[in-house]
Amino acid sequence: MTPVSSKQYTDDVSLLMVLIDTNPLFWSSTAAPLSFSNFLSQVISFLNSILLLNQLNQVMVIATGLNSCAYIYDSSSGPTNHRVETLLQKLEEFVVKDEELSNGNNDNDAFDGIGSSLLSGSYSVALCYIQRVFRSGSLHPQPWILCMHGSQDGPGQYVAIMNSIFSAQRSMVPIDSCVIGSHHSAFLQQASYITGGVYLKPQQLDGLFQYLTTVFATDLHSRSFLQLPKPVGVDFRASCFCHKNTIDMGYICSVCLSIFCKHHKKCSTCGSVFGQPQTSVSTLNQKRKGTDY
Ligand SMILES: [Zn+2]
Ligand SMILES: [Zn+2]
Repeated sequence: MTPVSSKQYTDDVSLLMVLIDTNPLFWSSTAAPLSFSNFLSQVISFLNSILLLNQLNQVMVIATGLNSCAYIYDSSSGPTNHRVETLLQKLEEFVVKDEELSNGNNDNDAFDGIGSSLLSGSYSVALCYIQRVFRSGSLHPQPWILCMHGSQDGPGQYVAIMNSIFSAQRSMVPIDSCVIGSHHSAFLQQASYITGGVYLKPQQLDGLFQYLTTVFATDLHSRSFLQLPKPVGVDFRASCFCHKNTIDMGYICSVCLSIFCKHHKKCSTCGSVFGQPQTSVSTLNQKRKGTDY
């Protein structure tokens, strides 16, 4: 599908896809700087602000759990006077279901880093919905994604997340990132950098609502007139396809660009056969660093 020209959008109507991290392991850990209920109340106030800015604005909330993700709330459906109740009820149902899933499925931890959320799933769900909006006609709100995330990155999701990021870039959908954990996230940094979104790790989470309304409430048209936070440094490290480890340097298949932490005889992705590793001149294996993809 060819990217839709941004000129076809009405310039001040927004479709905001909000991804919220509901991972119980994160919220119960010391890495969470505020309680989940405090976080939710600030987010709900922010969503109400977005809906007040323009009556045509639409907000969609997607929960990112430990093992699953789901649509929690859509402002375009249902009565507006029970907005908070609907959202909280759906969220509670989701968290219970997500926990049931994780009880029956403990074997993904070794592969995917302990305690990471299913971020790749949430990105995909959000992008699928946005594609549906794009195809609904030439007049539609301007979509963007705001990811509020606290859990650590799951290197096992590296390929799926990068595919989502490039898909968002191609559809010209910015991914904003608001980090609520104690560490920066390489995935979120790359997502915002590549898609032209805003990446922010607020210093004072007590004032999350202030950050959200001053930085993330701006519609895409107005952004060009404002000085929003610029990326200070982006962690471009990739994960190897063989062990899902985050690596500084590695080997790249010259045919399909798969990344490996050590030399293999054959590419596990495309089946290309590699020569012997050479220390001085290497034609098949290139040192990977920085933005060379
Ligand atoms: Zn590896
Ligand atoms: Zn390959």
